[in-house]
Amino acid sequence: MTITEDAPAAKERWTFQWKELHEEVITSGLCTGCAGCVIACPHDVIGYKHEPGQYKPFHLEDELGPDNCGHGEKGCTSCTRACPRFRAWEPQADEHLFGRSRTADEVFGVAKDVLLVRAADDHVYETGQDGGLVSAILIWALENGYIDGALVSGLEGGSDGGWKARPMVATNRDEVLAGAGSRYTYSANTIAYDEARDQGLSNLALVGMSCQTSIGPVMWSRKVGKVSKPIKLNIGLLCSKSFDDSLFDELFALKYGLQKDQIQKMNIKGVFQVWMKDGSYHEINLKECHAWTREGCNHCPDFAAEHADISTGGIGDATDWTLTIVRTDLGREIIMRMLQDGVIEAKPGDSDPGALKLLRTLAERSRARWPEWAAAEVRVGLKAGAKADH
Ligand SMILES: Cc1cc2nc3c(=O)[nH]c(=O)nc-3n(C[C@H](O)[C@H](O)[C@H](O)COP(=O)(O)OP(=O)(O)OC[C@H]3O[C@@H](n4cnc5c(N)ncnc54)[C@H](O)[C@@H]3O)c2cc1C
Ligand code: SF4
Ligand code: SF4
Repeated sequence: MTITEDAPAAKERWTFQWKELHEEVITSGLCTGCAGCVIACPHDVIGYKHEPGQYKPFHLEDELGPDNCGHGEKGCTSCTRACPRFRAWEPQADEHLFGRSRTADEVFGVAKDVLLVRAADDHVYETGQDGGLVSAILIWALENGYIDGALVSGLEGGSDGGWKARPMVATNRDEVLAGAGSRYTYSANTIAYDEARDQGLSNLALVGMSCQTSIGPVMWSRKVGKVSKPIKLNIGLLCSKSFDDSLFDELFALKYGLQKDQIQKMNIKGVFQVWMKDGSYHEINLKECHAWTREGCNHCPDFAAEHADISTGGIGDATDWTLTIVRTDLGREIIMRMLQDGVIEAKPGDSDPGALKLLRTLAERSRARWPEWAAAEVRVGLKAGAKADH
């Protein structure tokens, strides 16, 4: 047999290590700080600081400098295999989850159902950010044997602390509700993985913004699934950006006198809404906050947590319902069983056409942030030269 130009190309051997990750993702600006590489490293040589201005991985061994890895030179490739921003991560995760890539029209990812959902339990509903669905799922999944723990975000120092988000493990209803609500600063919930494993937990839910929900499927598609194997349920938070923690000291406190340890709740609905413990309510123009956008978000193309089992957000007229995108068989099974058990209420997503329209618009805007110099596969459906709206 002769080899012609039409013969399929031999599959490229995966030799990429920290060196390539550092150059193509971390210093190029694609890195979201999701910490997938940190939990995947079998030699524990990737560090991560959950601190203002940080949220990026760095190498802990210095013999080859910050941009190379001795284990990588000897053949270790786990970090690039785990990274949901390295090369063609999106179609690879799509293939793993859905058996195909998203089409140009599927701007918010491959979806089975779009619903508006809220927790039936009044306390869960009131404690939750929008409809309390995420907390309701975690509580129900813990009580029904789907998971034995969840990687979530909580507040450092509890509600009396300084509104500093931190990754934590929740194993019961009280712990789930202690983490309910949204902080709009970054929390790499993935980092709680080691703590969960140390506690002997083996069936986990990961709650995370879009960037974190691609970690598991990317790992599976690139054969480091052993690390993501304990993550049985992947719950996504729709996300257009997160802010650096310095937002609170440098804008909220300095200009508006809102001290971070006095914040009760916050939400973003066109403006930054802030409720204080003294009962006062404040609105801050979002445009003013943009200067504190976390660097890792500037090139993020995924608004809709496209690789989660269930993605959740709070857009549209019905802001007290969770806009819910069900993507996988597991996601559908859980929503159906929760409906049968009466722990959630749901209505069709198209009962709020404004929400669906906004979902598409915001997803399109995020898509346009993926740079033209990065993997072309991720710009499916985007016209050349499409400009991002930061
Ligand atoms: C940074 C950020 C940006 C977001 N941007 C948008 C947006 O632009 N549009 C939109 O529609 N929705 C956005 N969301 C999602 C929205 O705020 C709600 O989280 C979502 O609607 C689920 O609501 P719920 O009532 O079901 O969740 P809840 O029941 O309140 O549960 C929320 C879960 O999110 C976790 N969590 C809270 N803060 C963080 C954090 N900083 N990092 C990681 N996990 C966290 C909690 O631990 C909890 O498990 C964003 C969320 C975050 C955290
Ligand atoms: S995007 Fe995530 S996995 Fe990739 S380098 Fe950054 S922190 Fe690591
Ligand atoms: S925009 Fe949201 S999903 Fe994207 S990198 Fe920032 S925090 Fe992650």
